[in-house]
Amino acid sequence: MKNFDTGCVHPLKSELYNSAVTAGIQPAVSYEYIGHDNLQYPGFYSTYNQQRLGQIICNMEQGTWGMVFSSGMAAISTAILSFLNNGAHIIFSKDLYGGTLKFANEELPKRGIACSFAGDVEGFKNLIRSNTKIMYIETPSNPLLNILPLEEIADVAKTNNIITIIDNTFASPINQLPLLHGFDIVVHSGTKYLGGHNDLPYGALVSGSHDNKEVIFDTAKMYGGSLTPYECYLAERSLKTLSLRIKKQNGNAFVIAEYLKGHASVESVYYPGLSAHPQHNIAKQQMSGFGGMLSFELKTGVESITAFQQKLQLVRPALSLGGVESLMCAPAVTSHRYLSKEERLAIGIKDNLLRLSVGIEDANDIIEDMQQAMRQVSL
Ligand code: PLP
Repeated sequence: MKNFDTGCVHPLKSELYNSAVTAGIQPAVSYEYIGHDNLQYPGFYSTYNQQRLGQIICNMEQGTWGMVFSSGMAAISTAILSFLNNGAHIIFSKDLYGGTLKFANEELPKRGIACSFAGDVEGFKNLIRSNTKIMYIETPSNPLLNILPLEEIADVAKTNNIITIIDNTFASPINQLPLLHGFDIVVHSGTKYLGGHNDLPYGALVSGSHDNKEVIFDTAKMYGGSLTPYECYLAERSLKTLSLRIKKQNGNAFVIAEYLKGHASVESVYYPGLSAHPQHNIAKQQMSGFGGMLSFELKTGVESITAFQQKLQLVRPALSLGGVESLMCAPAVTSHRYLSKEERLAIGIKDNLLRLSVGIEDANDIIEDMQQAMRQVSL
């Protein structure tokens, strides 16, 4: 196995043109196939580039097979719907990306699927029913950076014959490899760190076993969500710098979290790399880096939160995350706007919470930008 950094740059040889140092683009939506010639079914839309990209992400996650989608939500909904029929039950971790939460609260019940939400391992254990098919988690979670113990959850699930799925978007395979900790399936919003430039929506799924390949492929085909060869090419290009970007973002986020921790106008900082984070020790055991995402609460009301974001000059007040540009948003009015205030507060998302996706700029410039914005709103 190559060193991870080397593997990012040299993932797979291009079969399209042997000596090319970068991948080719094969736009075919059809491949020769007679049907009685015992050839393996050759696939469908942009198979060549989709399979390449799926294989590269699979190698990064150290899985058995992988596939890609037109968005993270396409990967997530396919992974979940592949295993759930009317009457089934799924347990999610409480702290989830808003779109996944909406899918759980609104889409799954329409299909007769029951959803429960757990905050810790005991919660997962206690919620298991005879019809529980999946345990689905995010760690670190969006936006509060809570950490769940991968191996303990995987053990509980295995004992009860339950499939485990994790959204590894926040960590990326550079910081966390959940399949090595016993998880069955990893999903990603490739739109975030994997794409890394705030310009490419896509999703990915990697499994640790071939057993579920057919059912997931069939579900994926039913719901559409293919990625075009051109997008696959861009995604592959982005992955070459994944390790480099993530290491810089890990470093920047740590420096910024330390700075915010000591600031008189900051109520709380949520970053798993801080020793004061309640699950810091678990993060240390299962992550090789703590990631580029952090959240914090300012000691002020909604008006000043908005004014503070308006005064930022370098950090962009925008949704999404994981790109080279630092972006900041208030989850209460962005990723979690679908929830009522009571629902938001129940999972700990206050109006004064800000989520920072740390980019690859110089950390001191990001800090200076926040300092000047805070001064302008008298914080
Ligand atoms: N998972 C996480 C953790 C996210 O933050 C997001 C989007 O913000 C998604 C999944 C959904 O991904 P996409 O926007 O690519 O559909």
